[in-house]
Amino acid sequence: MNTPSAILDRTLLKKDGSRPVLHPWIYASAVQSLNGNPAAGDIVAVREPNGAFIAFGHYSPHSRIRIRLLSGKESEFPDSKWFFSKLETSFGLRKSYLEKNASSNSCRLVFGESDGLPGLVIDRYGSILVAQFLTCGMDRLKEMIATAALEISGATAFYERGDCEIRKLEGLGDSSGLIAGKPVPDDVDFHVAENGLLFHMDLFKGQKTGFFLDQRHNRRTVSEFINSGADVLDCFSYTGGFGIYAAKAGAGSVTLLDESESALAIARKNMALNNLDSSKAEFIAGDAFSVLREFRDRGRQFDFIILDPPKFAPTKATLPRAERAYKDVNLLAMKLLRKGGMLATFSCSSGMDRENFRKVLQWASGDAGRDVQIIWNFSQPPDHPVRLNFPESEYLKGFLCRVL
Ligand code: SAH
Repeated sequence: MNTPSAILDRTLLKKDGSRPVLHPWIYASAVQSLNGNPAAGDIVAVREPNGAFIAFGHYSPHSRIRIRLLSGKESEFPDSKWFFSKLETSFGLRKSYLEKNASSNSCRLVFGESDGLPGLVIDRYGSILVAQFLTCGMDRLKEMIATAALEISGATAFYERGDCEIRKLEGLGDSSGLIAGKPVPDDVDFHVAENGLLFHMDLFKGQKTGFFLDQRHNRRTVSEFINSGADVLDCFSYTGGFGIYAAKAGAGSVTLLDESESALAIARKNMALNNLDSSKAEFIAGDAFSVLREFRDRGRQFDFIILDPPKFAPTKATLPRAERAYKDVNLLAMKLLRKGGMLATFSCSSGMDRENFRKVLQWASGDAGRDVQIIWNFSQPPDHPVRLNFPESEYLKGFLCRVL
């Protein structure tokens, strides 16, 4: 086969001659030379300087991450049969999880590098699949992947949500819409079912693929710690994920705060959808940093605060600025809590690891003059697995803190 080759500038063998399990990203700086003239999204064979095969991967000429590894076996070229089998494995791994969580109708079926499919995310919402194609290699395969995914899953429609920043680094534009299957009507009112609660989801305009599936277990855990009558603040609420659980747990008041008016409009509908008393809920559209400062200046207090901000540190390079943002928002939240109040605080930045996040909280607690106990560690659910050779896949971490 005439597959172009990328020769790495150093041998990847260990001293004893064995090959380590490779990180799935090969940076441009590690590629010494190219044999052949691969186009964007072509498959290349990655080789050692002596010609020995290392792996096949997708070639991205516009990104610093030049190659993403697919198959590590020379006898297994990543053709459509190979992708079909990878999708089958990935979907199969979630089967029993979905069946055992029968009250949930949604789940992540493919989590990129963690499932050996770099640049591909597929979420299942009932009978609809919603995907992101984040590399030029995956982007070229969307019809094949969509057809295979519908066949394996039995779902009826496969949509793409390609309005995201990462695609730009690959030289790809926005691209959204139906790729395969039967279209869903524009006015469809789809509900995500989760732990006995329902959430309206905007399939076409919601953030990411529409809903934050990764907080499913953490929302339930949080609700177990919310006392009846508590004043709860769901900060960065989106469509009310945590706030709806809080209302259901018997909170005395629930304040939902987000900069997105459209997300809050859905949160309001979610209260009604779950037969919860909206008169106990307050919806505030605004910048969390300013609104929390206003609360502080007015002496407003809460018993329970959830902080689930967007990625402040998408990469290690943005970490110093992000640390300050995490510190500021946690410091403000600690100050707004009554003595013994609880803070469920999250970071979904893969650039910030758990230890670092703990240090930021320590810094915030020192400045707030509040002593803090950690009573629970939050992480990501089983449908978002962490791959040992891809530490970036461990992105969601959080702590449940009692603020004394
Ligand atoms: N907790 C939510 C998910 C939160 S995602 C859930 O369980 O579903 C992060 C949210 O932060 C998004 O809804 C986004 O609109 C909001 N956001 C981002 N920057 C913000 C800011 N500065 N102030 C308020 N909200 C912000």
